[in-house]
Amino acid sequence: MATQKCPHCGAEIPADATRCYVCQEWITQNNTNENTPPEFLATLLFAWFLGCFGIHRFYTGNYATGIAQLLTLGGCGIWTYIDFVMICFNKFKDAQGRFFSDYNPNVGITIFVISLIPLGLLLILLFGIYMAVLIPRLV
Ligand SMILES: [Zn+2]
Repeated sequence: MATQKCPHCGAEIPADATRCYVCQEWITQNNTNENTPPEFLATLLFAWFLGCFGIHRFYTGNYATGIAQLLTLGGCGIWTYIDFVMICFNKFKDAQGRFFSDYNPNVGITIFVISLIPLGLLLILLFGIYMAVLIPRLV
């Protein structure tokens, strides 16, 4: 049987249910885009690839902070990376204060760990450059 996730408590309920049997909240069956919370994976990918331009914030309706990130290149990447980590752990809210309805902790934690690899390589590279500059001066 087809199921859907309750937007209020996240429980798996029949797709045609009009009321959640877990939390007793009514389910509105309208799939208009303005009322659908942003998708977790799409937001995560926007933050990783286009986060310096604040695209993930525009996508989630946070326009003011999106423009601020666009102008500061994501706070030199630091602000964007904080957003990225918050998205990975479902701490990020859209403009209406909602969390992702389709959040998957396995995906979030896996992508967070993968994101540490290029960061680690970058640190090794910077350390390498630093040593390459420093060592000739010591000899
Ligand atoms: Zn519910």
